[in-house]
Amino acid sequence: CGIIGYIGDRKACDVIVKGLKRLEYRGYDSAGIVTEDNGKLYIRKGAGRIDELKEKLGFLEMPGKRGIGHTRWATHGVPNDVNAHPQRDCTGKIALVHNGIIENFAELREELLEKGHRFESDTDTEVIAHLIEDELKSTGDFEGAMRRALLRLRGSFALGIIYADEPDRLYFVRNESPLVLGIGDGENFAASDVPAFLEYTNRVVFLDDREYAVVTRDSWVVKNLDTGEVVEKSVHEVEWS
Ligand code: GLU
Repeated sequence: CGIIGYIGDRKACDVIVKGLKRLEYRGYDSAGIVTEDNGKLYIRKGAGRIDELKEKLGFLEMPGKRGIGHTRWATHGVPNDVNAHPQRDCTGKIALVHNGIIENFAELREELLEKGHRFESDTDTEVIAHLIEDELKSTGDFEGAMRRALLRLRGSFALGIIYADEPDRLYFVRNESPLVLGIGDGENFAASDVPAFLEYTNRVVFLDDREYAVVTRDSWVVKNLDTGEVVEKSVHEVEWS
């Protein structure tokens, strides 16, 4: 039920754990984090409270300066460690977190199973990672593959997406589930809600439905999911808490 993403010079897990704590009020049954270091993704996740998981899984020992955290409120698949997000593709290079519901996930899952994909979880979310993997095979261009995969989804989704082979960026997508960017200085953030990163920046960009952001440590751009065209967005200054 919450997303927090970070890219910059800090230890990503520190920012993410704090952000997850600030999103706790939204309710959740599981939590997880993905970070990237030296082209490798690290995923730690499980059912339970953030403070317990932090100790049990060592959230604060995860390497890397970019990453995404998630709190889950299960809709498809019981709350357990495997169904916690991040979910990933077969190669383990694409990982993502999701808030919302993919209404047509069963059909997509059937199609992907026929193509030889293997699923780890019972979530609706996992099909998204495999769909992107599938599109990537035919294009080789991650952003294009992601966009084409997302166009096949029906339902609501706020997503944070990381690809191991692209060292410098994160993707955030919004459709009928909230997501906002936090613009820093040499670092950027994204979250379901401003308080998750307000300690670091009060400059925010509100994504609208069917928009996605490509975020690096010192740049960000928002595009329309349907056309792929750049959307002009303004930066708002919110009150410091
Ligand atoms: N539908 C997804 C799941 O059940 C995401 C739930 C959420 O919004 O946290 O895993």
